[in-house]
Amino acid sequence: MQKNILVTGGAGFIGSNFISYMLKNSAYDITNVDKLTYAGDIQNTKDFLTNKRYRFFKADIADKDQLKIVFDRKYEAIINFAAETHVDRSIVSAEPFIMANVTGTLNLLHFILQEKAAKLIQISTDEVYGSLAEDEPAFTEMSSISPNNPYSASKASADLLVRSYYQTYKLPVMITRCSNNYGPHQHPEKFIPKIITHALQNKEIPLYGDGQNIRDWLYVEDHCSAIHLVLDHGTPGEVFNIGGACEKTNKEVILHILDLLGKPKDLIHHVTDRKGHDRRYSIHFEKIHTQFGWRPTVTFDEGIKKTINWYKHKWG
Ligand code: NAD
Repeated sequence: MQKNILVTGGAGFIGSNFISYMLKNSAYDITNVDKLTYAGDIQNTKDFLTNKRYRFFKADIADKDQLKIVFDRKYEAIINFAAETHVDRSIVSAEPFIMANVTGTLNLLHFILQEKAAKLIQISTDEVYGSLAEDEPAFTEMSSISPNNPYSASKASADLLVRSYYQTYKLPVMITRCSNNYGPHQHPEKFIPKIITHALQNKEIPLYGDGQNIRDWLYVEDHCSAIHLVLDHGTPGEVFNIGGACEKTNKEVILHILDLLGKPKDLIHHVTDRKGHDRRYSIHFEKIHTQFGWRPTVTFDEGIKKTINWYKHKWG
């Protein structure tokens, strides 16, 4: 019998890349449920819209009644990407983050409790661990949960709910926590797309604070291959860190992109730092490497060139 998975948030950045990846690299049939918020773009699904193994529902995962329509069949797994994701927006207003990220996740857990799906992969973030100093060791799956902004707090809350459903009901759930993704289809409000699209238009590129905040960068397709392994081989109740082994300051990222585009450094425009801006994220992904042999394969230089080409094609 054909195996079905439910992807939530599949019109967004990582979700749409994941569906593309899975249609090419697995035999699953895929249902995508997305609310199509400002961040969801149906254009992100155009490459597989007519694929016979794919179907789409527009619904809000925070609304149980709306969500019922997608459970006309039983799924092997739900892979939950749907979320409000922009930290700056969460600082202005946290409510949508609680609805989508916490209530939405709780609803999915309830459908699994009703055996409408066999397992849940919760797509979380390294941001739930909080911030590191430059000389501190990378986060492991055992690091404490210490979110510092409303976005990461909502994701951490969802992780704790998922954990509690494993502990209480022995529900087959797993959590993945990845570092910053980059690649095609990301909303232009996010850091790397903003740099590329502004540079292409010779517009100022805003840089928070001293520009020395450090992020670990993971090419989105590497993230998708890691999720595929967790989906097929992960043990319920486990957490898996997924990192890019590629720490860079924000300023380094901007300079790299400006250099590739042949644009001047004076496009950089220093702006007041984000409130509660985490200094450094770094992720230890030995567990997924040891268990499944996974490691990132795309270097930052390769990945960023592919990303730039995609935005040039769309915006150039
Ligand atoms: P995104 O903002 O590009 O896409 C989110 C998608 O979810 C959109 O299509 C949106 O319409 C949909 N959505 C939002 N609220 C919904 C709701 N209530 N019901 C149904 N659909 C809804 O986000 P992304 O960057 O692709 O991130 C996907 C997941 O990965 C998120 O859970 C995020 O927390 C996590 N994550 C992302 C990154 C990153 O670097 N992008 C890093 C770590 C973790």
